[in-house]
Amino acid sequence: MVRQFFVSLGAVATLALASGAALAQQYPTRPVTIVVPFAAGGPTDIVARSMADAMGRSVQGANFVVDNAAGAGGTIGVAKVARATPDGYTLLVHHIGMATAPALYRKLAFDPLKDFEYVGLINEVAMTLLVKTALPVKDVKELMPYLKQNAAKVSLANAGIGSASHLCGLLFMSAIATDLTTVPYKGTAPALADLLGGQVDMLCDQTTNTVPQIKAGKVRALAVTSSTRLSILPELPTLAESGLKDFDVSVWHGLYAPKGTPKAVVDRLVAGLRQALKDPAIVKRFAELGTEPVAEAKAAPDALRAHLAAEITKWAPLIKQAGIYAD
Ligand code: ASP
Repeated sequence: MVRQFFVSLGAVATLALASGAALAQQYPTRPVTIVVPFAAGGPTDIVARSMADAMGRSVQGANFVVDNAAGAGGTIGVAKVARATPDGYTLLVHHIGMATAPALYRKLAFDPLKDFEYVGLINEVAMTLLVKTALPVKDVKELMPYLKQNAAKVSLANAGIGSASHLCGLLFMSAIATDLTTVPYKGTAPALADLLGGQVDMLCDQTTNTVPQIKAGKVRALAVTSSTRLSILPELPTLAESGLKDFDVSVWHGLYAPKGTPKAVVDRLVAGLRQALKDPAIVKRFAELGTEPVAEAKAAPDALRAHLAAEITKWAPLIKQAGIYAD
């Protein structure tokens, strides 16, 4: 009796494995949606659409489409994926906000460490601190006294609480001990458009969005948020060398699937992600925008989960210290 039980249990396991493998072999039979939790045209969207193209080549028979589910600093789109059917047809590309949201929101409709399958890291990218060209400052040294004198009227755009631009602004305001008026958008594409139009004064955003406008002279970049200068913008000092000691924000993107997505499907996505990151079109596009694909070992489920967990631990006390949270 007992033996029979184990025999049939073994049979079930074999069947599950076989059907998982069969599923992965057939997968995908229809378009796969990659949810981007910010507006079209911004940095997360640029990374996701570039990856959608490349993974369309690296995952045989696949067609990846992007769905911009923007709002509430990215948390609406993330919650949408957490609740999606875990069949491999709904994925998420999200950034550092996956790690900062738990410290920023009192109530969150998802748990970053429990509600997802992790495919892998995609890239890391620095941010740039920008001002509109009409602002009468040419560097961070001039900006600081200007902000102290004009704090009430200077506006700082962001992509909502939990976005990378929000985190950067938060740390910046805390470092200079000055509160500015923050203006939330559904992504930094519309925020940058308003900076270009002069409707807002400042924005901190990934180079993936800002390099073309900086190079065209349409916005003034004052500093980069990483601990070292960038080869794509070598003249631009870091915030740390501009006087904001230890300022270091580097944004990273990851690819996720809802919890329960079959392992065989996740494995196929990992293989597709790894190959896509070597795609010459991705390497070229990322380089033009001041970023590069992660090393192959980081394009892996364990690496993404470990990085996410470490980033949650890293940012929670810093966010608490800055004293911000949302309901
Ligand atoms: N990079 C933006 C942010 O988090 C969001 C976006 O991709 O539009 O601030």
